[in-house]
Amino acid sequence: MKLPNCWSCNHTYKYSEALKFFWSKECPKCGKRQTLSSKSNLRTMIPTLLILFLPGYFIRYYLEIAFISYVYIGIGLFLIAMLLTPFFFEFTNKSESGLSNY
Ligand SMILES: [Zn+2]
Repeated sequence: MKLPNCWSCNHTYKYSEALKFFWSKECPKCGKRQTLSSKSNLRTMIPTLLILFLPGYFIRYYLEIAFISYVYIGIGLFLIAMLLTPFFFEFTNKSESGLSNY
């Protein structure tokens, strides 16, 4: 598990700084805009989807819990996924990223 670096100044993000990427895309040190590389987009998306949907689905299916409990579990899983994704970030200059629209 490693945290991302700024593509411009090579500043290594602290965990809290990486988490801020969800609402602020600028490097905390040099202010350059960060873009997720397309590779990192996939790396971020796949674990998030797995964390979100797989356990949720099985919990719902096997335990037959009430829908409202499922919502709470879903929110919990979503938060866990959010907290883990900074470790999968890889920042790049916008011009390098082909698929990414971030
Ligand atoms: Zn920077």
